[in-house]
Amino acid sequence: MKSNTARGALSAVIACAAGFSLASTAARAEAQVNIYSYREPALIDPLLKAFTAKTGIKANVVFAKDGLNERLAAEGQNSPADLLFTVDAGRLSEAKAAGITQPVKSDTLTGLPASFRDPEGHWFGLTMRSRVIYASKDRVKQGSITYEELADPKWKGKLCTRSGQHVYNTSLAATMIAHKGEAATETWLKGMKDNLARKPAGGDREQVRDVQAGLCDIALGNTYYMAAMQKNPEQKAWADSVRIIFPNAGDRGSHVNISGMAMAKNAPNKDSALKLMDFLASDEGQKIYAEVINEYPVSPKVAPSELVKSWGTLKPDQLPLDNIAKYRKKASELADKVGFDAGPGT
Ligand code: FE
Repeated sequence: MKSNTARGALSAVIACAAGFSLASTAARAEAQVNIYSYREPALIDPLLKAFTAKTGIKANVVFAKDGLNERLAAEGQNSPADLLFTVDAGRLSEAKAAGITQPVKSDTLTGLPASFRDPEGHWFGLTMRSRVIYASKDRVKQGSITYEELADPKWKGKLCTRSGQHVYNTSLAATMIAHKGEAATETWLKGMKDNLARKPAGGDREQVRDVQAGLCDIALGNTYYMAAMQKNPEQKAWADSVRIIFPNAGDRGSHVNISGMAMAKNAPNKDSALKLMDFLASDEGQKIYAEVINEYPVSPKVAPSELVKSWGTLKPDQLPLDNIAKYRKKASELADKVGFDAGPGT
C-alpha cells in the first residue's frame, strides 16, 4: 500500500515538474515544496501538516527506502525535489559529496548546534537518537553496559541485532573505529557475532520481540522504537519486557546519530523549502519531533518528551559526527570480513 501511494505521489510530483516552465507560475498560484524522503511518511506527516496549516504551503512527499540520491543525481536540473530528508550523518555527508545539495543559511538554521550541521550549510540535523541496549527485565540483572561488553563471551547466544550492514550498525561500528581503531573493531564485531542468538534479521523492533520470546536477553536498537512499540497494541508486550540501558554512560557516552535535511541542488521552490527548513528547526517544529515522534530534539531549547525522559538520561558520545561518514565504509567492510550477517557458529 505504502509503495503504491509513494509511486502515486511520485508521478504527481514528476508530472508537475516535467517540461512545464510554468512551474513557477503554478508555484505562485499554490505554493508547494517537494520532498524526497528516506524517512517513513508517518514520521514526518505530523510536521508537514503543522507546517501547511501555518503557512498554506503544500508539502508533497516521495518516500523510498533506497535510491533517492541516485534519482536526484539522474534528474539533474529537471529534478522536482526541493528537499532531501534522511537519517544518518553519513548519508547526509554522502549527499553533499555527491553534489546533489546546495548550501543555505538562515538565523534559525545557524541557531542549531554547530555539531549537528554541516559547517558550509549543506545539511542540518533535526533530531537525535541513540543506539541503545534493550535488556530483558527478567533475565538481565546488570544495570549498565558498554558497547565493548557486547563482545564478551558471557553474552554467548544471548544477543540479537539486525544486519551488521544496516546503516544504524555500520555507523555505530564507525564510531568504534574512531575510538578504538580498526583492529579492535574487527575483534569486537567478531565477538558480537559469536554472541548472536541467531542470524541477524528484521528491524530493531523484531530484536525486542525476540527478547520477549526468550530467544535472546539483549538487543541493539534505536531509542525511538521504544515509543513506537509502546504505542502499538501488537508490540506493547515486547516493549514491556525490556528496559533501556544507555551504553557507556559511565565513560564516553552513548552513540548518537541524527535525522536531518538538505536543500536539493536544483530546488525549484527554494523559498518555500527554506520556510519548511526553518519551521522544522524552530522551537515549534522541534517540539513536534519531541512530543509526537519521541526523538531527541537537536535544539537545546526544547526538552525531550516525558516518555523519553522516563527511559533515563542520555549522555551523548561527543565524537564529531563526521567520523561516521569517514569510517562507515571501513565498518561495512569489517562486518563483511567477520561474516557478521552469516550469524553465530559460522
Ligand atoms: Fe529507524
